[in-house]
Amino acid sequence: MYIRDITMKNSWQPDKTEIECLIKAAREAKEYALAFKSKHSIGAAVLTKDGKIFEGTNIDGIISSQGICAEMAAINHAVVHNQKMIRAVCVYDVGFTYPCGVCLQYMAQFEQISGRDVTIIVAKEGGDWVTKSAKELLPKRYESKNFQKDLKNYAKQNQ
Ligand SMILES: [Zn+2]
Repeated sequence: MYIRDITMKNSWQPDKTEIECLIKAAREAKEYALAFKSKHSIGAAVLTKDGKIFEGTNIDGIISSQGICAEMAAINHAVVHNQKMIRAVCVYDVGFTYPCGVCLQYMAQFEQISGRDVTIIVAKEGGDWVTKSAKELLPKRYESKNFQKDLKNYAKQNQ
C-alpha cells in the first residue's frame, strides 16, 4: 500500500492520515492470523521512510519454538521489499496490546539502521489508539557497537 509521495513529508513522525492508514491495514491483517494455538490474532502494519505500508499478522507454529509475532512479520514484509527505514509500527487488537520484548528489540535494530526512533501505534477496536516510542517501551535494549557499521550500511539502500 502506498500513501503519498515522500517529498510531501517533512516529518519522520507519522501524521494523522498515515496513522489512520496504518490502523486500517493492521485491522485487515488481523483477519489473516494463524492463531490456532494462541487463539489471539493480532494485526500489524509498518510505515517506511518512503511512505509505504506493509502488513503482518501473527503465525503460530506447531513446534513450540516456532511462530512469529505480527509486528515482526510486518517488518519482515517491509524488508522483502527493500524498505529498511522503519518510521512506525502499528499493532491492532480488540484491546490495547503492546509489542512483546522480542519485537521491541527487533525494532531497535531498525532504529540503528535509520538512526531515528520507531513510533509505535497501539490501536484497538472502536478507533482508539495511543502512540509510544520503541525506546519508551524498551529503554534498556541490547545494542552492540560491533554491528553498528553494518546496520548503517543498509540505510544507504533506502536513500
Ligand atoms: Zn512480539
